[in-house]
Amino acid sequence: MGVTSGTGGQLLLSELEASAEMVEIKTPEQIAKMRAAGLVVAAMHKECAAAAVPGATTKDLDEVAAKVLADHGAKPNFLGYGGFPGNICTSVNDVVVHGIPDRETVLNSGDVLSIDAGAIIDGWHGDAAITVFVGEGHAPELLELSRVTEESMWAGLAAMRKGNRLVDISKAVEGYIRRQPRPASGKYGIIEDYGGHGIGSEMHMDPHVLNYVERRRGRGPKLVPGMCLAIEPMVSLGTAKTHVLEDDWTVVTDDHSCSSHWEHSIALTEQGPLVLTAPDGGRAKLAEYGVEAAPDPLG
Ligand code: MG
Repeated sequence: MGVTSGTGGQLLLSELEASAEMVEIKTPEQIAKMRAAGLVVAAMHKECAAAAVPGATTKDLDEVAAKVLADHGAKPNFLGYGGFPGNICTSVNDVVVHGIPDRETVLNSGDVLSIDAGAIIDGWHGDAAITVFVGEGHAPELLELSRVTEESMWAGLAAMRKGNRLVDISKAVEGYIRRQPRPASGKYGIIEDYGGHGIGSEMHMDPHVLNYVERRRGRGPKLVPGMCLAIEPMVSLGTAKTHVLEDDWTVVTDDHSCSSHWEHSIALTEQGPLVLTAPDGGRAKLAEYGVEAAPDPLG
């Protein structure tokens, strides 16, 4: 799940540096619990993606997610968050994030669906999102949109290294997207209204993680072992501007262009980064960036 950049966008540099001291630092034992929560999220994605077939409703996917949570003895963190009524967010086509699962939204072949899922184990949170293609017949531009969004996330995850600062993650995400060939629609819209966040004993914590570089925000806190972040680029085939529907949740692109959303939760450990919500801890993808993933504390 993403957090709004709204108030954060108004932060002055001095305020940002002060808030950096409030970033929660986890012990290895706590990171192991977050890994357990992350693996539940990965299982939710696997099951929900398999259920995302033409004719299914988004409520069907929510029920699949609820069962995975229960089967793993995990608690939902989305359900009831600020009154959110689902275990997952299901965001179809021009919906960027925070789509509410319901019985009325029937998936059609050709839809692009983002499934954002979260779980709590022993009080420790996991949060991640994937984009899936329902049925068939998707234009190459849509496949490329999701690829670019996912890969920009991995570029950001690979920047979660000792010696870097928060801005290096934002720079990696934005830089990856800007280096890609432009889509036929004109350009990729990097959504600025929402972003990633710290995660741990709560789902949304400091610091806010922008998916672009904003100079007046400074470089942000140093990345140190024990820090855990959710990195979640949201990209559209058109505008970066969004609005919220009357349900107070559903975020839609202003021009109704299709969007993609990918997210992983990641921990920085003394042994390097561990992608908490990736089944392999991010090992294969981080290696493409020359980064070795930390050993999995759960083996
Ligand atoms: Mg999130």
